[in-house]
Amino acid sequence: MARPTRDRRTPDRRTLDRRALLRGGAALAAGALLPGAALGAPALFPAPVLAGARKTKRVILVVFGGGVRSRETILSDNVPNMMRMAEEGVVFPNTSVRNNGHYGAAVSIISGSFEVFGIRENSRPVEPTVFEVLRREAGLSAADVWLSTSGSDQETNYAYSTAPGYGSRYAANLIGGEGIFNAEFKDLVVGEGGLRGVDAKSEAVLGELRGAMRTPLPTIDGGDFGNSAETTARIESFILDELRGGASEITGLGASDAKAMHVARNLMSIFRPKLLGVTLRNPDVAHGSFNDYVTVIRRNDEELGKLFDAVRGDPELAESTAILVLPEFGRDRDFNARRGLDHGDNSDELMKVALVAWGPDFKSGKVDTREIRSIDVTPTIASLFGVRMGGRTGSVIPGLFA
Ligand SMILES: [Zn+2]
Repeated sequence: MARPTRDRRTPDRRTLDRRALLRGGAALAAGALLPGAALGAPALFPAPVLAGARKTKRVILVVFGGGVRSRETILSDNVPNMMRMAEEGVVFPNTSVRNNGHYGAAVSIISGSFEVFGIRENSRPVEPTVFEVLRREAGLSAADVWLSTSGSDQETNYAYSTAPGYGSRYAANLIGGEGIFNAEFKDLVVGEGGLRGVDAKSEAVLGELRGAMRTPLPTIDGGDFGNSAETTARIESFILDELRGGASEITGLGASDAKAMHVARNLMSIFRPKLLGVTLRNPDVAHGSFNDYVTVIRRNDEELGKLFDAVRGDPELAESTAILVLPEFGRDRDFNARRGLDHGDNSDELMKVALVAWGPDFKSGKVDTREIRSIDVTPTIASLFGVRMGGRTGSVIPGLFA
């Protein structure tokens, strides 16, 4: 039996009301929307989602991070690919965030709760991450849950928390693009004397590779929590392929974000994970250069477009995959002394970001100006898999589902 045609494919429903978006953005910039609305005000909690009734089987969460204002994304011409997604999905231009520094704000998205880090910037999340929740509560295997990061050490902490009952056994498979896909590592693994045969030297190189991947490895007693031996072998072969010709060739301004997106795209087509997180950070060059900031946003949008097209171009993925994109926070309203943009003025440009959500169960071509929170995103993802994030987290986003 043929599947019903999705509304998103009907041309007359694909046109986003750009003026509504701009109106929302203008009001946002003026601080006129929802005057007096307190950050952290409880969102409406819609009826529980029945996972079986949903078409969504896979979710990609892109933390389009590094501090990115709506003024340089949905209110600009910098992100044609994000706008393509928006035209077929839902935009929430009033998504509240907290500015705890990049790490704390990104962790808050991943754990669905506003985590305050302060000086504990290298600590793992306290609340369970969406990766752990889906693995433990929804029974996803290690091979189903992936995280592709831009590669800083801090970002490796996103893979799992210190929450009791969760932790490394429920971690996401983690690939930090910058840490692996560089010239040195390429030479080590596939260069002269690289992986050619099973000898002591090759084994040592494989050991480096496994260390750099930081994936949950098979447990000695054959437990169920790590990757199976078969998955581990597939991961190694995937990384070797990327080293030979893919991600390790990417260079220039914003290269580590471009690597993270490139790796994510290939992970999606090869491993077809149920949950794939991608975390970006290079737009933070804005502290010193507004022009570089815009250049990186455009490059990240280009990569987002490739990921989007890869999903849409695969019949199975196109019918079953949701993509949610938002930054961890925006940036200041005014330039600093270097004509760059910091993040500390608590303006709406910093504290309100745009969430773009596209997927088979979401509305199409809508702009919803109600206030939601960045911590509502992962509880919404969890709901798509029929589970909840926990008591201290955000709520399922109202107005998102068709
Ligand atoms: Zn910064």
